[in-house]
Amino acid sequence: MQRVTAPVDPRTSWGLPTPGTLPRVADPEPLVTRVLAPNPSPMTLDGTNTHLVGEPGSGQAVVVDPGPDDPAHLAVVEAALAARDARVVAVLVTHHHGDHAEAALPWGRHFGAPVAAASPDVAGPGGRVLQPGETLRLAGTTLDVVPTPGHTADHLAFRLASGAVLVGDHVLGRGTSVVTHPEGDVLAYLASLRRVHDLGPSALYCGHGPELTVDPAAVLRFYLAHRAYREQQLLDALAGGPRDVAELVAEVYAAVPRAVWPAAAQSTRATLGKLTAEGRVEVEGDRVRLA
Ligand SMILES: [Zn+2]
Repeated sequence: MQRVTAPVDPRTSWGLPTPGTLPRVADPEPLVTRVLAPNPSPMTLDGTNTHLVGEPGSGQAVVVDPGPDDPAHLAVVEAALAARDARVVAVLVTHHHGDHAEAALPWGRHFGAPVAAASPDVAGPGGRVLQPGETLRLAGTTLDVVPTPGHTADHLAFRLASGAVLVGDHVLGRGTSVVTHPEGDVLAYLASLRRVHDLGPSALYCGHGPELTVDPAAVLRFYLAHRAYREQQLLDALAGGPRDVAELVAEVYAAVPRAVWPAAAQSTRATLGKLTAEGRVEVEGDRVRLA
């Protein structure tokens, strides 16, 4: 029995491209070209979006999230760079997951460009560790480094001079993101959603799925409401008595394809971590009860 109703996803009326129909290459605005990597899956949706950012005519571009180290993907990125008449001056990475970061060091070497990320492991020996709040002046434009921990501890977003924000896996073009466990952090995630919301983004360019341009703030408010909804669903389920984590996932995520239940289990454990810290539930191994 659910006492709360699911928040409505504002994107349902936006006419976004359906799964599998996202164009391989697109220019959502003059500063940005998006190249879709050929790695679709239940977790990566259509595949990873690699973004090329640069002022037109600067002859330069920054690669954000090179994605999988795949020669076919590199070939499409190089064609997109040629179309922009741009050479790569830096490779930036939103977070350490392989579907975003695997090609960072190989492509950094290939392009002769430094790699920059929040994590020293991702940036590599010749790379640069990015600091929250700093502004990068690259490719004739600026990118503000916005800390967005939650999905992972090292997650960053990049705000462009246009007001658009490259959000990596903080927000996805379709559905909702995962707060990983044990690395992720629900409280940090909620604060990061508010931080990006308060930037008043003109658009969100996501690590997976279509660009969100109609009402980006409404999507961020939906994400906040969605997390509150999942939390209430867990508390409602536990009001019926103690449950195993697997039982909670089956109950709360009944409407979600089973392929994403392992990720749902991580988000559930992350949410239980928040509720435990707040003294509202007790978790002993796999067994969960109201406190
Ligand atoms: Zn991803």
